[in-house]
Amino acid sequence: MSNASLLASVLALQAQGLMQGTSGNASVRHGHGYLITPSGMPIDEMHAHNMVEMDMQGKAISAGKPSSEWRFHHDIYQARPEVGAVIHTHSMFATTIACLRKDIPPFHYMIAVAGGDTIRCANYALFGTQALSDHAIASLKDRRACLLANHGMIAVGKTLQQAIDVAVEVETLCEQYWRALQIGEPHLLSAQEMQAVFEQFKGYGSWDQ
Ligand code: 13P
Ligand code: ZN
Repeated sequence: MSNASLLASVLALQAQGLMQGTSGNASVRHGHGYLITPSGMPIDEMHAHNMVEMDMQGKAISAGKPSSEWRFHHDIYQARPEVGAVIHTHSMFATTIACLRKDIPPFHYMIAVAGGDTIRCANYALFGTQALSDHAIASLKDRRACLLANHGMIAVGKTLQQAIDVAVEVETLCEQYWRALQIGEPHLLSAQEMQAVFEQFKGYGSWDQ
C-alpha cells in the first residue's frame, strides 16, 4: 500500500464529515509493518510524504512523527492478522454515544457489519497510552469496530476501503441510535434474529469477507 492511498483515505473521511482537523488517524499494513498518518497535523496540511512508515517493533523507519495512537494501530495488527487497515475518528455521533459510555445494542440489523450483535464501548484511558490500546483490543474482540469512552471510535477492515465502509456505517448507526433515543426506547433484535442476519449476510456485498 502506498502513502498516496492512505492520504486519499483520510481526505475521503474528512469529505464525508467523519474526520476533522487533527482529530483521528489511519494506518494500513505495508511491507513488514504499516504506514500511519502523522501526529498533530491537520488533514488539509498533509502530503503523501508526511505518512510515517513503522516497523513492528514500534519504531518509525521514515521521517516524521507517527500518530500518538500508533500503539493501538500496532497492537491491532499484532492481535488480528486478518486486519489490513485501521481507522480512528472523533466523528460526531459515534463520539456522542461514546461520551455516554454506552455499548450499542442490536437496535438495527446493520449492527452486524461490526461483526457481532453489539458495538462495545471501550473503557476510558488517556489518548496515546498503552492503557487505551489494551482497552481497545479487548473491545474489538470478534468485532470490526468499537467506541472509545469520551473519545471516538475505531474501525478496522481487510483493506482501507473496508475500514472506511465500516467507519461510515458505524457513524450512521450511531446517528440512528441517537435519533431513536430522542423519541423513545428502541426495540432490540433478539439473538435469534441477529443470527438470521449473519446468515443473510453470507455473500452480501463485502461484509462477509
Ligand atoms: P494524532 O494527531 O497524534 O494522530 O492524534 C489524534 C487523535 O485522535 C488522538 O486520539
Ligand atoms: Zn483520538
